[in-house]
Amino acid sequence: MATIVIVGEETTNHRLVTLLGGHGHRVLEAADSEQALAIVRAEKPDLVLADTLVGNMDGCQLAQSLRAEAGPARPRLVFLTAADMEADARALALACGVSELIVKPAEPEALLALIDAALSGPPPQAGKPPPEPGSDEMHFHAIIGKLYQRMAELERLNAQLEQHAAGRTEQLEVARSALEQEVTKRLWAERELTQANLRLHDRAVRDALTGLYNRGYLEESLDREESRARRGNQSLGVMMIDIDHFKRCNDTFGHAAGDTVLRAVAQHMLSLARGEDILCRYGGEEFALVMAHASPGTMLERAEKICLGVQNLEIESDGRRVGPVTLSVGIAIFPDHGDSGQAVLQAADAALYRAKAAGRNCVVMANEVTPMTSGGAVPPGGHRTA
Ligand code: GH3
Ligand code: MG
Ligand code: MG
Repeated sequence: MATIVIVGEETTNHRLVTLLGGHGHRVLEAADSEQALAIVRAEKPDLVLADTLVGNMDGCQLAQSLRAEAGPARPRLVFLTAADMEADARALALACGVSELIVKPAEPEALLALIDAALSGPPPQAGKPPPEPGSDEMHFHAIIGKLYQRMAELERLNAQLEQHAAGRTEQLEVARSALEQEVTKRLWAERELTQANLRLHDRAVRDALTGLYNRGYLEESLDREESRARRGNQSLGVMMIDIDHFKRCNDTFGHAAGDTVLRAVAQHMLSLARGEDILCRYGGEEFALVMAHASPGTMLERAEKICLGVQNLEIESDGRRVGPVTLSVGIAIFPDHGDSGQAVLQAADAALYRAKAAGRNCVVMANEVTPMTSGGAVPPGGHRTA
């Protein structure tokens, strides 16, 4: 490792001593050029690293003094220069025997590399006098100096650009993550809105008391189901179901008990429904059931199941048994009993009216009356044409 004399201010020296010392060099400090010369005389160092303005002696003077002091065996001289050092001054410094000019502030790695280059480069030319102003050599050194200056400027510019690019990358990263958050937030909001709309739509098409579809939904579905049945050349059954003497139930047990009955009847019908059935509370104590491609036999079978099931329901309200509850049912089928969904609904309603007129607790197919097997107003096995 080399012996290096550092000439300059204490703070600069301290940083350099740490850096060079840390790389195994023997480092000696001098506050100014005079001290440096004294150390050179005594220690015969390999290299002198100096600020261009050192004490009252400029760089060239120091170089010349070293030449005078140590002759051919003089140490290499490296200057720390300001970035804006004049090209002529650089040229002169190099011409005076300066091995290397390092632009301040230099990165530690760059500085170490330049010091190494200076140490391994050719030794200072013995006894060579500084070139004449205006000579070719001076001109050559001036060009070299300008190149150095330009190189330093480019390095500075490059560092600025790198810093700028790093800043932009960071900004872009921040903007990207903000955008990502915004998109996620919007997606969530959209999802919530869709769910809220679905809830709203569901509420709009359902009856609050029983949870069944409401009359509005029935009207809307009937047209759709009619078209589907027409397209597929299939039947469409409509059943109108009305609780018998419900007013009496309300009057005897109270309105809350009436509500309980409505809910129980609705739940029972729902438990028997198929996935594609449309079950609605048509109004008050009246319900409608739409069954796609159902035969008269299927419709009658279902109606009977509903009536018997409801009759056997054990409904309690306020600790009192309510019922038994009986139903009257009217059935009509598209296209047999009407040429549209609405016409079939009316036919089913007319059949229901006939069931009521026939004594209630019975099922009437449009144009005929079928008695309940469990007994009721129409005797078992009886048959009436409405
Ligand atoms: P019918 O056998 O001829 O059908 O007689 P009904 O008593 O069942 O029919 P009516 O039309 O005379 O009376 C229906 C009653 O249903 C009158 C009304 O107060 C009651 N009602 C309608 N909606 C509700 C409801 O949401 N809850 C309760 N508890 N009662 C209702
Ligand atoms: Mg009724
Ligand atoms: Mg009614």
